[in-house]
Amino acid sequence: MLTPTSIHRPKPYLLQIEWSDGYASTLLLETMRDQCPCAACQGEEIMGQKISFGIKMFKPGMNELTALTPVGNYGLQATWSDGHATGIYTWQGLRALCETHALTPQQLSDLASKE
Ligand SMILES: [Zn+2]
Repeated sequence: MLTPTSIHRPKPYLLQIEWSDGYASTLLLETMRDQCPCAACQGEEIMGQKISFGIKMFKPGMNELTALTPVGNYGLQATWSDGHATGIYTWQGLRALCETHALTPQQLSDLASKE
């Protein structure tokens, strides 16, 4: 199983994850919050139907990470500044998130130039 070997926050809005196979990626925390795997954020399947809980409203602090807490040996629980803490990112889910949403070197240098 692939697991992270190191997790850093190089900027307040970025998360950098290195994996046991050498793969490394940098994600926007905004993307991570947007992809929060909890039922309230992603909707729930009820009787085979995907039920959505409506439009996600922007809340102050929602994209600011307060803590990442290991859950057993299978994932991480993210706590956000707006108090949301029900999302558990499994290693598999986190890896998929990295592979889908990792920032390119170009995007990273664009972000850095805007600071
Ligand atoms: Zn959530």
